Amino acid sequence: MEKSNGLQVILFPLPLQGCINPMIQLAKILHSRGFSITVIHTCFNAPRASSHPFFKLLQIPDGLSEIETRSHDVNLMLTLLNERCESPFRDCLTKLLQAPDSETERKKQMISCLIHDSGWTFTEPLAKSLNLPRLVLNATKASFFRGHFALPQLHRERHLPLQDSEQEDPVREFPPLRKKDVYRLLDEESEVLDAYLNRIYDATKSSSGLIFMSCEELDQESLTQTRQDFQIPVFAIGPSHTRFPASSSSLLAPDETCIPWLDKQEDRSVIYVSFGSLVTISESELLEIAWGLSNSDQPFLWVVRVGMVNGIKWIEAIPEEVMEMLNKNGKIVKWAPQQEVLKHQAIGGYLTHNGWNSTVESVCEGVPMICLPFIWDQFLNARFVCDIWRVGLHLENRIERNEIEGTIRILFLEAKGEVIRERIELLKEKVGTSVKQNGSAYQCLESLVDHIFHLSS
Ligand code: UDP
Repeated sequence: MEKSNGLQVILFPLPLQGCINPMIQLAKILHSRGFSITVIHTCFNAPRASSHPFFKLLQIPDGLSEIETRSHDVNLMLTLLNERCESPFRDCLTKLLQAPDSETERKKQMISCLIHDSGWTFTEPLAKSLNLPRLVLNATKASFFRGHFALPQLHRERHLPLQDSEQEDPVREFPPLRKKDVYRLLDEESEVLDAYLNRIYDATKSSSGLIFMSCEELDQESLTQTRQDFQIPVFAIGPSHTRFPASSSSLLAPDETCIPWLDKQEDRSVIYVSFGSLVTISESELLEIAWGLSNSDQPFLWVVRVGMVNGIKWIEAIPEEVMEMLNKNGKIVKWAPQQEVLKHQAIGGYLTHNGWNSTVESVCEGVPMICLPFIWDQFLNARFVCDIWRVGLHLENRIERNEIEGTIRILFLEAKGEVIRERIELLKEKVGTSVKQNGSAYQCLESLVDHIFHLSS
C-alpha cells in the first residue's frame, strides 16, 4: 500500500458473488492508493475477515431468514434486502460519521465518500441527510445498465405472444438484444422490478459519479450515451481483476485440485464449464450437458455448485455408467479458482452463462466462449460475445447433448473455431492495453482517484 492519504472510503456491496468481487477489487485498488477502507456488509454472504486484513469490515443484520437466503429469486431477495437493511445501515453509517473526539482523530478518519452498489436504493436520502458524497458502482456492462431502464416499457408491451417470425428481430430500445432475449429476460419479472429500476435510475442520477468494471474498448457507445443521459462523471476503470489477480472475495472455497489436473492436460485442449453463482438448471439439463461433454471427447473441467441442480443435492442424478465415462475425460468440482483456471494454458474454451465478471475474465485471458445465458444481463453479454465481438458461439438455449457436442467440436476442431480464437486474441490485446499506463481504463481510474480526493475537499 502507498502511504496513507488520510482519507477513508466506505464501500457497501450487494451480497451476491458477482457484485462482491468488483467491489472488493475496487477496495483493493483504492487501498493501494492510500485510502483506508471500510466495508459495510450484510450477514448473508459476508466476506471472510481473514481474507481482508487491511480493511475494516462492519456487519449489519439483514433480517433474511434461513429459507430466504436459499431463494433463487434474486429480485425478491434484493427487494427484501432493501427493505430490511435500511435502518441497520443508517445506524452503522451514522455511528461512523459521528465526530471523532480529538482533532488528530478527525484528521485520521476523514471520510471521503460512500461507494455503494447500484442495487442499494435507500442510500440516496440517507447520504444526503448526512452530507456524505455518494458514488455508485454497477457490476454489469454499461450497455446493460443503460438499456435495462427500457424494461418497464418493454414489460408493458410484452403481453402479446411472440410470433416465430419475430424471434430474431432486434430490440431498438435495448440493443443488441433480440426479441426472444427480452422475452426470456422478462419471463419471471414483475411490476416490482419496474419500481425498483426507477429507484435505481433516480439514485444514480443524483450521485456524484458512476463506476463500471468495463472500458471504452468494450463499451464505447454506451459509455458516451450514459454520460449524456446521467450528466454525472462516469468511470470505466476496466476489468479490475487484472490489477489484483487472486480472488480473495470468493464466498465458496475453490477446489485447488483443478490446477494440478489442468497441468496434466494438453495446451488449449480443455473446455471449462461454469454457470456462475446464481444460475440453476433442471435434472434433465444436467444430464444433457453431461452427455454432450462426454460425447465431445474433449477434456473438460465442470463446475456444478451444491444446490445448482433443482431438486437434487449435487450430481447424484447422473447414472453410474455416464459418470464412469465422464471421469475418464474430465473433472467435476463444486467451485473452481476461476481466474486461475481461465489463465491456464490447458484451457481452450469456456461454456459459460455469460455473467459480466466471467465474460470479462474470459476476454482478458483470450478464451473463446460457448454462450448459454439464463438470466438478466447474461443475454446481452452473450449477444456482444457472439454478434458484436464475434469471439464465441451461441447455443441459443438448446441444452441438448448433440448441440453441445457439435458446438464444442466446432470451437476446438474446425476452421471457424480457429477464426474465433484469433479474434479473441485481438480483443484481449485491446483490453490489456486499456488497463496499462495511459490506456483508457488506466486514465479513468486516475480520474476516479482524483475525483474521490476532491469530493472530500
Ligand atoms: N467464480 C469462481 N469460481 C467458480 C465460478 C465462478 O471464482 O467456480 C467467480 C468468477 O470468477 C466471477 C464470479 O464468480 O468473478 C461470478 O460472477 P459473474 O458476474 O460471472 O456471474 P454471477 O455469479 O453473478 O452470475
